[in-house]
Amino acid sequence: MAAETLLLLGGTGEARRLAGMLDPVDGLRTVSSLAGRVGKPVLPVGEVRVGGFGGVDGLVAWMREENVRLVVDATHPFAAGMSASVAEAAGIVAVPWVVLRRPGWTERDGDRWQWVGDMAEAARVVGTLGGRVFLTTGRQSIGAFAGLDGLWFLARSVDAPEGALPRRLEVVLDRGPFSVTGEIELMRRHAIDVLVTKDSGGAMTAAKLDAACELGVPVVVVRRPPVPAGAEVVETVEAAARWVRSRLPG
Ligand code: NAP
Repeated sequence: MAAETLLLLGGTGEARRLAGMLDPVDGLRTVSSLAGRVGKPVLPVGEVRVGGFGGVDGLVAWMREENVRLVVDATHPFAAGMSASVAEAAGIVAVPWVVLRRPGWTERDGDRWQWVGDMAEAARVVGTLGGRVFLTTGRQSIGAFAGLDGLWFLARSVDAPEGALPRRLEVVLDRGPFSVTGEIELMRRHAIDVLVTKDSGGAMTAAKLDAACELGVPVVVVRRPPVPAGAEVVETVEAAARWVRSRLPG
């Protein structure tokens, strides 16, 4: 019997773990998909394809060509464009699809968080909270803070940012996981007095929140975009693996 093909949209640690968990599973061929944004990505085990599909039409064509029978959207919670494409394409091809989305972060006693709706709002409010900003929102978001010449920025990203950038900017290239002591040291060294983050959730990058709490530094937290309407959502890699296994024949 031919193996069922699972398209696993990735770019997250959860997607890599899921690929590992499903390799090998009898009767299943898993293809992990990466956008190709990161220069030296940490690759999942098994079959991998890299690069955009070319919108919904391209994704539908690819799914048909590869005879995809199941889809797991394990992209980052802020990869809203890809998630919308997956939802639409899975509907057109009529294959079951699930969104694997880790829970967001929640505020605890001692935290000083200000929630905002998007990066533009983060840029509008950040100067009211501090003057030395630690930007941890990823290189594609740094441009939203260009033109804020009264503020000084430390931006951390995996690859170097490009395009319009804040004038007073220092970039540190690094990827998680990070430790609380390391984050405290970094924030103290640069006299950071406000942190900006997406509500990415997960343990890999949560240490900065503990560090900010410890140092009494306020945090601007950008809310997640909603998951596509009608999506079935699971929060853990284990639940996603069960979802896949339960849909395999036999
Ligand atoms: P996005 O804005 O939702 O996606 C833009 C376009 O990039 C998509 O329409 C698609 O192009 C392509 N793309 C995105 N994810 C893809 C994937 N897994 N496989 C193939 N093509 C993909 O996405 P993004 O926010 O730029 O994120 C890009 C990748 O980085 C995702 O895989 C995501 O999981 C990962 N990531 C994102 C963040 C973040 O903060 N946004 C953080 C960590 C990791 P086509 O329309 O041509 O198919």
